[in-house]
Amino acid sequence: MTNPKLTGIGMTSARTRDRLIARLREQGIANPLVLERIRSVPRHVFMDEALASRAYEDTALPIGHGQTISQPYIVARMTEALLEGGAPRKVLEIGTGCGYQTAVLAPLVTTVYSVERIAALQLRARRVLRDLRISNVFMRHGDGFEGWPPYAPYDGILVAAAAMAVPPALLEQLGNGGRLIMPVGPDREQRLVRITRRGDLLEREVLGPATFVPLLQGLS
Ligand code: SAH
Repeated sequence: MTNPKLTGIGMTSARTRDRLIARLREQGIANPLVLERIRSVPRHVFMDEALASRAYEDTALPIGHGQTISQPYIVARMTEALLEGGAPRKVLEIGTGCGYQTAVLAPLVTTVYSVERIAALQLRARRVLRDLRISNVFMRHGDGFEGWPPYAPYDGILVAAAAMAVPPALLEQLGNGGRLIMPVGPDREQRLVRITRRGDLLEREVLGPATFVPLLQGLS
């Protein structure tokens, strides 16, 4: 049985979504594949019904457990930064949350390995992705500081929570030519960075300011 919310109309109408796409374009998102994913992924199904009417606003919103669904702009920006220079095949995602970023990304790459430390959120994300018939995602309840070693190296790593530095295990699991996108820095001064591995060298670029929840140790 498909999720009845998938057939919603009104706030989920094409016009509402077009407005969001126009806004992202104005802010510099240019990759047509990414814009098309933002248009077609029903963001409202990842949220509580009470907030669904705000699903196509370009803002982060609460999803319970003290966490948020990422702002569409930042999801688009991270996805675009990950895809630049050629689509990665294997991508490690840290911080599945509600699964929205995962859903935007999944059809653009071969496989997503997604790690979440809050079991209840992971379970919910699993259900929504199944309802959306997205089947190239493997999920793990684990601590993202450790990455997911058995499937390394990854062509891309996307981290949806901020830390003062990139966890060393993630850099170790980044393959040659691979790109890691992550918010780094203290609260209110986070920067979205992209690290590209060139052999033993790590090239670092700052993509812009960011506001993410913190990357936390341990499971919940
Ligand atoms: N990607 C989500 C947003 C996630 S918010 C979206 O598309 O909306 C950040 C998520 O990272 C939260 O769900 C939080 O529980 C998770 N997280 C924080 N620290 C983590 C860690 N060490 N390992 C795995 N997940 C972590």
